[in-house]
Amino acid sequence: SSILGIETSCDDTGCALIDLNGKILSEALHSQNLIHLRNGGIIPDIAQDLHRRYIKPVVDKTLEKADLSMSDINAIAVTVEPGLPLSLAVGMKYAKHLARKYQKPIIPIHHMEAHALIARMDHDISFPFLTLLISGGHCLLAVAQDVNEFKLLGQSLDGAPGEVFDKAARRMKLRNIPELSQMSGGQAIETAAAKATNHDIFKFPLPLTETKDCNFSFNGFKSTALYHILKKEKEHNIEGDQVIPEVNDLCLAMLMGTTRHLLHRTQRAMEFCEINNLLPENKKQLVVSGGVACNNYIFKALSILCEEYDYKIYRPQPKLCTDNGLMIAWNGLEKWRKRIDIVTDLNQININPTSDYDAEELHNCA
Ligand code: ATP
Ligand code: FE
Repeated sequence: SSILGIETSCDDTGCALIDLNGKILSEALHSQNLIHLRNGGIIPDIAQDLHRRYIKPVVDKTLEKADLSMSDINAIAVTVEPGLPLSLAVGMKYAKHLARKYQKPIIPIHHMEAHALIARMDHDISFPFLTLLISGGHCLLAVAQDVNEFKLLGQSLDGAPGEVFDKAARRMKLRNIPELSQMSGGQAIETAAAKATNHDIFKFPLPLTETKDCNFSFNGFKSTALYHILKKEKEHNIEGDQVIPEVNDLCLAMLMGTTRHLLHRTQRAMEFCEINNLLPENKKQLVVSGGVACNNYIFKALSILCEEYDYKIYRPQPKLCTDNGLMIAWNGLEKWRKRIDIVTDLNQININPTSDYDAEELHNCA
């Protein structure tokens, strides 16, 4: 007996099987990254077409690898929120099709909760814990109080760190540097930043330094990056596919700026948790997840903060930080164990593309 997980919220078609003891039975992933890199970003219709084309092969492959059939499955966990509407719809419809055909219940999954909870698969992390979720479409701080109880402390007012990295990487034409050409924007920027020699020439002002809450803002980083790129391109008479010579320095400066912002807000959240007694005094835990959590520079900086505040820090392994089917299967299992959200009436299952967290938002922390 096992749980099948299906993820199609953005540009990855993911599927995984996990048994009721939490053992991974199999996984499969079809990533659209290279196609979207070529198109200069995600085009929702194309993403949907690719999900439609790959959903059955990816699910079939997952079952095949585990040598199981649908009759061995207890429930189908599927991402229903938040995400691109066209993409979410493909996974949900396919899950419903399977549920109907094989008489299985569906467990609806919140993509961001799944990003946070997957850290519990490989690590001994107990509720409640503080979580910083940094990804292509989101940036938020929340206290995970239980499998289905997330208290939102703050979120992005505009943009997301992964989105800034992806857009800046595209504008810097990092794809034309062979070594970086196959990487996501964030990974390309991290790799280029490691070769910086003089990042001080680029300034990135910190946003929201005067507001006493845990919210984030990223559009400033985007426009500052563009300003620096344009200025350098003009200075060097750059045309077409050429890359500015200072690209590594610019990457590091941008990475340092965004990291400082993430640190400031996380520190504020820690102070808020302290004042409001949201975490046990002897077991304070921070879980960092989402694609941007792959970034070692950001993770190291957060680790230092955690040491100062007496937190244990955790992050999932890189391939579980970015979108994958396993985090959906795992979240399904966490709900299955607690008998939460096991839905047999398929009419109750709908996508909710813009659902930003169901939790209350807190202002004026600390
Ligand atoms: P969301 O979870 O908000 O819906 P998403 O699912 O598209 O967005 P993820 O798959 O969680 O996002 O993460 C993808 C993002 O992670 C991309 O923006 C990518 O640039 C970023 N990323 C991947 N590796 C790194 C890295 N090493 N450093 C920084 N960013 C990275
Ligand atoms: Fe994601």
